[in-house]
Amino acid sequence: MKRSVSFSAIKSAVTMEQALARYGILLKAAGLDTLRGQCPIPTHESDSVHSFSVDTRRSIWACHSESCIRNRGGRIGGNVLDFVTLMERCSIREAALLLQDGSIDLSFTPATQIYRPSVDVRRNAPLTFRLIELIGQHPYLSARGVDDATATWFGIGYYRGPGFLSGRVVIPIHNAAGQVVAYAGRSMDSSLPKYLFPVGFRKSAELFNLHRATSKPSQELIVVEGFFDCVRVHQAGFSNVVALMGCTLSREQTTLLCAACSQVVLFLDGDSAGRQALSAMSNTLEAHGLKVRKVCLQDNRQPDSMHAAEIQRLLGSPTGCKNIEEEAGP
Ligand SMILES: [Zn+2]
Repeated sequence: MKRSVSFSAIKSAVTMEQALARYGILLKAAGLDTLRGQCPIPTHESDSVHSFSVDTRRSIWACHSESCIRNRGGRIGGNVLDFVTLMERCSIREAALLLQDGSIDLSFTPATQIYRPSVDVRRNAPLTFRLIELIGQHPYLSARGVDDATATWFGIGYYRGPGFLSGRVVIPIHNAAGQVVAYAGRSMDSSLPKYLFPVGFRKSAELFNLHRATSKPSQELIVVEGFFDCVRVHQAGFSNVVALMGCTLSREQTTLLCAACSQVVLFLDGDSAGRQALSAMSNTLEAHGLKVRKVCLQDNRQPDSMHAAEIQRLLGSPTGCKNIEEEAGP
């Protein structure tokens, strides 16, 4: 028999402040009834530290990040039940039952009393656990052109254990010192979000594959956008490749690049976001004293769908901005 649950009773009994405190989310007061800060919802991708706001009087929240809204099916925000549903990655009924049963303990200090430290001092802490029994030989990985040896090298595999990454292909992310700081989980179909990260993980503080890319002395680093771009470029014979995990370059990533090399090859996706990012990043990196080489791709081409020979042809080119004129096969 289905247990009864009253959505309206729960909504009036549980405040957004209690829910925030339960998840350890610290926001800044930005007005009488408004809290603001970094979005804690797992659908959130951007590095904005102000996109998430809570109206404590009405007990509602919103995140104005475009990608976060898109990943949540177009909704800007919601009430406390919507919030718990997203945080727990469960149905709204399951969220209501969790709150009703007290499975989510709400006896925490209200979030308004504590402030987040400044964004600059927050590092991703090394993980104290490892996901085990990852399956590196998986049809998803072969479909994306990743061979078994490469999957093993990167520690990538299908994960069927418990937790929010269950049923996804997981990718360990290390800091510059080689410590695992997070796992990213890629959905294997069209379900959104394509990538899930642990709550609180800051992509902007890391460059994916940096510790491996710098294990052999090299003056030059190749910079790509995504995990699979990185994996495919490595597989094509270029071990000095790092990924931004997005199409923006943060201040911290700039600092990491400056410390690691004197020359950068920007090898971004051939879409409008990638092209825009290419000139902006190039300017930033040159302003920081790095030599920059740009590899420009035609529409909708990206490194993760290129043959090794094509990658070698582009990256082997000594200078300037090289275009792919002809469409190579998949
Ligand atoms: Zn968000």
